[in-house]
Amino acid sequence: MEKRDTSLEALAAAALRRIARNESIKAYIQEYTLARDVLLRAARRFIGGEILDECLEVAAEVNEEDLAVTIDYMGESTRNAGMAREAAEEFSRVVRSIAERGLNASISLDLSHIGMAVEAGLAFDNASRLAGAAGDAGLEMMISMEGSERTEDVLETHRRLCEIHGNVGITLQAYLFRTTDDLREALERPGRIRLVKGAYEEPVRIARARGEDVDAAYRELMRMLLASGHACSIATHDQEMLDYAHDFLTNNGISREPVEFEMLYGVEPERLRAMSNFGYKTRVYLPYGREWYLYLCHRLAEHPPNIYRAFAEAVGVDVPGHIR
Ligand SMILES: Cc1cc2nc3c(=O)[nH]c(=O)nc-3n(C[C@H](O)[C@H](O)[C@H](O)COP(=O)(O)OP(=O)(O)OC[C@H]3O[C@@H](n4cnc5c(N)ncnc54)[C@H](O)[C@@H]3O)c2cc1C
Repeated sequence: MEKRDTSLEALAAAALRRIARNESIKAYIQEYTLARDVLLRAARRFIGGEILDECLEVAAEVNEEDLAVTIDYMGESTRNAGMAREAAEEFSRVVRSIAERGLNASISLDLSHIGMAVEAGLAFDNASRLAGAAGDAGLEMMISMEGSERTEDVLETHRRLCEIHGNVGITLQAYLFRTTDDLREALERPGRIRLVKGAYEEPVRIARARGEDVDAAYRELMRMLLASGHACSIATHDQEMLDYAHDFLTNNGISREPVEFEMLYGVEPERLRAMSNFGYKTRVYLPYGREWYLYLCHRLAEHPPNIYRAFAEAVGVDVPGHIR
């Protein structure tokens, strides 16, 4: 029988994930400046700003702490080819700016932001041009994983990109039952593999329940990934998973060289600093742009105490613990 967490926190989280997908609420927020400004105050904890220049400043500050960054120009589900091309052009500016400023950074993107929601071929063309430009600048390009309706297209595009480029990484979600097979395949290809628990609301027939089921899958996939020696990113804030990875690497004498620990900007920054102090490579995922609404909903949903914090920040109360 389906296990369902009926705690108030779990229900609030599920509601937020639903709100995140509601186009009319999103349109309302974009249209009404007051609502936008109020929510933007809460979003700022998690983003590098609304424009690239702001984000580059934040990236430089993060670099000063010996943490690498990966910059994402936020957005997804772009509905026409022109907008997808504009998004790809903005990513080219990100690549150029990283190179010009000598930042320790890579780029991360959603394929649906650069054309997948219009046509898979368009996303491939835009992604391939970007991967080439990133490669010329000596940078990695990470592909994020979206909702399950896109998993197959995202993986297929990654497969095709890997035939041409060696610097394109892929994100895999531990909550999906299919991921063990996807990981085996991804291990055959170049490009970093980023392992996350998964952020979307998915049907129970294809995804594990949040909590111990997902955590057990994460541990198993992490063992496979770390033992492989493949370039990887352990992308979690979960202290138990971080300890597990550290013990697994140490007890099995596995090289730390291909391994990176990666966390979201504004989330548990002291945990990433601790991994850096242990001598691990570390990276902060730093998104920017005006499309922060969905991103904010995800961050609130995955850690409901953030709702209180966001509420206080939205109305101008100074909440301690902001990164930087
Ligand atoms: C670099 C990176 C890239 C990602 N890319 C994707 C992607 O492409 N596709 C996708 O579906 N998901 C992505 N995610 C999100 C991921 O799937 C999870 O939703 C998110 O990381 C929370 O899971 P967790 O592993 O931290 O574990 P959880 O079990 O959710 O959290 C463990 C602990 O971490 C802390 N924590 C977690 N989240 C928060 C938060 N928002 N605020 C404050 N504390 C928090 C809390 O202390 C919590 O108890 C990405 C995450 C990272 C770090």
